[in-house]
Amino acid sequence: MNRFFVFVSLLLAANVANAQYEPLKQRADAFPPVAEAFDSKAIVMANTVEQMSGWDRYPTYDTYLAMMQDWADRFPTLCRIDTIGTSVKGRLILCACIKGSAANQSDNPEFFYSSTMHGDEVTGFVMMLRLIDTLLNGYGNNQQYTDLVNSVDIYINPLSNPDGTYRGGNSTVRNAIRYNANYVDLNRNYPDPFGTEPMNPQQQENTAMINYVGKHHFRLSANLHGGAEVMNYPWDSYSSYENPHPYSEWWIEVCKRFVDTSRTYSSSHFRDTYNSGYTAGGDWYVIPNGRQDYMNHFHNCREMTMEISSDKTIESDQLPEYWRFLQHSLVNYIGEIHTFANDVSIESTMSSETLDFYPNPTRDKVFLSNEVLTPLTVYNMQGIVVFQLPAGTRVVDLHNLPQGVYIVRSGHRSAKVIKR
Ligand SMILES: [Zn+2]
Repeated sequence: MNRFFVFVSLLLAANVANAQYEPLKQRADAFPPVAEAFDSKAIVMANTVEQMSGWDRYPTYDTYLAMMQDWADRFPTLCRIDTIGTSVKGRLILCACIKGSAANQSDNPEFFYSSTMHGDEVTGFVMMLRLIDTLLNGYGNNQQYTDLVNSVDIYINPLSNPDGTYRGGNSTVRNAIRYNANYVDLNRNYPDPFGTEPMNPQQQENTAMINYVGKHHFRLSANLHGGAEVMNYPWDSYSSYENPHPYSEWWIEVCKRFVDTSRTYSSSHFRDTYNSGYTAGGDWYVIPNGRQDYMNHFHNCREMTMEISSDKTIESDQLPEYWRFLQHSLVNYIGEIHTFANDVSIESTMSSETLDFYPNPTRDKVFLSNEVLTPLTVYNMQGIVVFQLPAGTRVVDLHNLPQGVYIVRSGHRSAKVIKR
């Protein structure tokens, strides 16, 4: 036991020494699990699909695979299982794709949930499995689920880091760890809006995920974590003072609806970090190379981070209680994809506080008449980030961009710039 503590201490010391980009505050989920926490925990595993029927166990790795296959077999017109890729140890990273029969030839928007990129944050793993089961069994029986599945193509990846979760072997989630088999934090390993190089080479779990999301056009997504109960909306790379997300107002409404709904089922949750139950990620603390900002910045996908359980690895008999207070919020969040237009204009997010550029229109450069202390972000009219410049920049060079209108934002100020 003591040796383990020494090991953890050395590990943390080593991390601090190596970490150029380590945030000042550590997020609650930033620490490796302590072995004793597992020793005293009641963690019951399901060795068969049938043993998952009460949803009060964690599946073994084989049971997890069998559950996914079982849904594809039982609901062949509704559900397909994609293999996103494999982990370092060769375990499968799977995604259930749920499309209603009325949706087969439609151009429904695509939604993506993925969970447990931190292997020991396993509450979301089981919540996602149960969500798949609920949507499939509810289709044709429950109007809300039927409408949702008919109007949205729903992709659910329950387990992004199987090597971390099954670190203790395929038969248990006991001794799960945050990291993958190379001991890399997958949520510090994505391409970054700043161009910051991750501290480690891109891990194959993330390469697979990047390839998979590149083949899709996810409009709305979330990644699920544990270690806190708080809804974390973009950005993670900046504070909301430096660079508020263009759709912050929408995010806040979405977060409120999620938290309010869950609190009607259990008032004690989503209170351990902020009373509101939500925050802009960078206001909690800034992280580089995270998955959330990767999706927002590079894919024009609205992704948030849902921290759904204060305890990363809850006792298995607590799983039904977490489902009880989360299920309606998790289902409703998918429907939030209908609360913004597919072609939502970035222009509508401009504030009355303006940045003053000259000459405008321009053929190449525009100059800022006043210095700004926050980074500049240039968006095209589709809302996609074209590039960014650091705080203090006075010149924006547009000569490489196609002719057209661009929105430049910095902090809460913005401007429309015309490139001729
Ligand atoms: Zn996490």
